[in-house]
Amino acid sequence: MGISSRNSRKGSSFSTGLSYSFLFSNFTPYNIMQANCFTVDFEDWYQGIEIPISLWHSYEPRIEKGFYKVVELLASRNVKATFFTLGWIAEKYPHLVRELDAAGHELGSHTYSHEKVYHQTAQEFREEIHRTKNIIENITGKKIVTHRSPFFSITSKCLWALDVLAEEGYTIDCSVSPIKTWRYGISTCPDEIFRIKENNLIEFPVSKFSLLGKNWAVGGAYFRIFPYFFTAKGLRYRDKANLPSMFYIHPWEYDAEHPRVKFERKAMLTHYARLKKTFLNTEKLLNEFTFDTVSNTVKNYEQQNRIRTIGIDILRD
Ligand SMILES: [Zn+2]
Repeated sequence: MGISSRNSRKGSSFSTGLSYSFLFSNFTPYNIMQANCFTVDFEDWYQGIEIPISLWHSYEPRIEKGFYKVVELLASRNVKATFFTLGWIAEKYPHLVRELDAAGHELGSHTYSHEKVYHQTAQEFREEIHRTKNIIENITGKKIVTHRSPFFSITSKCLWALDVLAEEGYTIDCSVSPIKTWRYGISTCPDEIFRIKENNLIEFPVSKFSLLGKNWAVGGAYFRIFPYFFTAKGLRYRDKANLPSMFYIHPWEYDAEHPRVKFERKAMLTHYARLKKTFLNTEKLLNEFTFDTVSNTVKNYEQQNRIRTIGIDILRD
């Protein structure tokens, strides 16, 4: 079990325990704080932008550049992370999947083609997550139980995807954002890990925090665009509220030199912003906070009896 903020290791456990027992009086108060989880969407730069799979072959492959930066950084701090891997990537680079597995990281699914779930039928989505699970399991020999959809694209329009995930043998999904943006989000999504009553799937939503009157997420473009203290403040805030955070990032965010191409203007603004800061900011993050895999973080939360069961209707915003 880790301590989510080394700075808060001393002194804050008593007051945190009090606020925690006030909020969740049926749970045992504790003075050990849980680790956050570090997640990587394992995809190449041209998959992080909306280029269809039929054109991927025409772009420069650079996956290993960012991959080794983040993997070596995690190794230097002995941090285990969850890598949500595209089936297409696992097929093309099985040696990288083997390296992740050998290093003790958790492999999860990020679908096969990086298509948004709300643009798919249930059958198309099922085929993608089934195929990806098989590809990765055949490489590592280990069961895949975690999933994240591209662009957090499980929204109220496609809640059927959560049933499909459970039916295909996944137990933890990380595809829902409680922050609503032009591309994704469910505004009524609880800001905590919860179990969905109807299918028993555990949902670990994007971690949010409020600052300057707005909601922000812990990771991705938010992490690069704003100064480091911004994300750190959010993590410390969540730490005090005993809410584990899910940090997310992509290998291409560690590859500042990846090619510039034109695509949706709104997405371009965030995709290329301050890429040179990702590595340094991640070093700071790993110095200050403790991280683990998604499965271990959920297990830890579960052992504390802290996972509420909630009906799926809460996600119909
Ligand atoms: Zn992705």
